[in-house]
Amino acid sequence: MIVMKFGGSSIADSERIKNVASIIASEKWKRPLVVISGIRGITDELISIGRSASSGKEYISLCNKAINRHMEIIRRLELKDSLLEDEIRLLMALTKEISKNRTFSRKKLDLLMSLGERMSVKILAEYMNRNGHDAIPCNSYEIGVLTDSNFGNADILPGTYERIRKSLKGMDSIPIITGFIGMDRKGSITTLGRGGSDYTACIVGAAMNVDEIQIWTNVNGIMTADPKLVPLAKSITELTFDEEAELEFLGAETLHPRGIHPAMEGNINVRIMNTLNRRYRGSLIRKEIKASKRVASITSKKGMVLFKMPSEENMREGFNLSLAISKLGRLGISFDFVSISRSGIVATTTKGEELAELIGNDEEAAEKLKVLGKVAKVSVVGKNISDIKGIDRRIMKALGNIGIIMLDSGVSRESLSVVLDEKAADRATVLLHNEFFGRSG
Ligand code: ASP
Ligand code: MG
Repeated sequence: MIVMKFGGSSIADSERIKNVASIIASEKWKRPLVVISGIRGITDELISIGRSASSGKEYISLCNKAINRHMEIIRRLELKDSLLEDEIRLLMALTKEISKNRTFSRKKLDLLMSLGERMSVKILAEYMNRNGHDAIPCNSYEIGVLTDSNFGNADILPGTYERIRKSLKGMDSIPIITGFIGMDRKGSITTLGRGGSDYTACIVGAAMNVDEIQIWTNVNGIMTADPKLVPLAKSITELTFDEEAELEFLGAETLHPRGIHPAMEGNINVRIMNTLNRRYRGSLIRKEIKASKRVASITSKKGMVLFKMPSEENMREGFNLSLAISKLGRLGISFDFVSISRSGIVATTTKGEELAELIGNDEEAAEKLKVLGKVAKVSVVGKNISDIKGIDRRIMKALGNIGIIMLDSGVSRESLSVVLDEKAADRATVLLHNEFFGRSG
């Protein structure tokens, strides 16, 4: 048994849906459990529909646009017009209510967003049935994905695996399951955070203890760098769970940040495949690889803000970090890279907008916090990277005259990162890729 997950771009239009259906059909003998996202861009579209409705703006034409995109696919696939009747009715009723009451809670937003996946599973399942494959659309919450009530970023509750197992065991049809969504104990629909279909795929895979979880994308798996920046970037054949988790943490955005965890815990291999290149065998993420240490990939995380928080008194023993941390915590600012000196701390945060807002509205914050500029973190990632002799020297040398604001102290075994001016990030990525993977690819 395997899990096959397809994202929104893979089912963006009727041709792509046909392609996905044929990929699933060709793996039928492996007894696939299919998890899919909504069609490309639908989640963003539903969010803006909700926002328009709640602020009293025109929203009906936006609803029609979203509905028409689905109807166009239905017509091209020659499915019955009434297929999405229930979901469309719910969309209209829900947005009408939001517009009337001018309230748009996170709970309502989750319900609204869930419609994307609830529509796509019906389309794919119906199309497969029409073409002689026994498939059945499944709402993940009806097959057991039980979550807490943290709307917008919910997590699964104990018992979920057991429930999924009960629902899917012995099912003869191919289940086409909604990614991204779940349900809390009170029966309200929740979502698992943006990009959450990967997480659903791994949850289902772990629950069913499948042989492999396949995540189908539109690129050749996980690469040595972003190919848009580094055309010579290569696909990575195998990587460890830790390397993948580190890559996501450092900005790779291949998978949902929590996505891999259920697979890691259950020790189930995850393969990143390409719907547009079916001959490609994929990047295999597993517990172990042969190499004892290596550089696997260069990744970067942009949109970070560097800020300073001076120490209050001129302390002889140095800066009181715990005080600073609790103060930042109180102000609601999380940070990641931090450098401490007697005069205070300099740190990076991904919450730049919140920081600016805080400084604008809060006297204490305005007095204590100073924004220094936009920065990026560029990281060299790989198994036991800190054991590679002289690696930090190579990084510094490769970056040449690009100013490094901070260099991490090697706390992680899987990565070494530098913080630099955001404008220099792409160039730094290319230089580091040249250094570790050569100019010829
Ligand atoms: N449709 C959801 C999103 O856009 C979930 C996913 O694509 O994984 O975030
Ligand atoms: Mg995704």
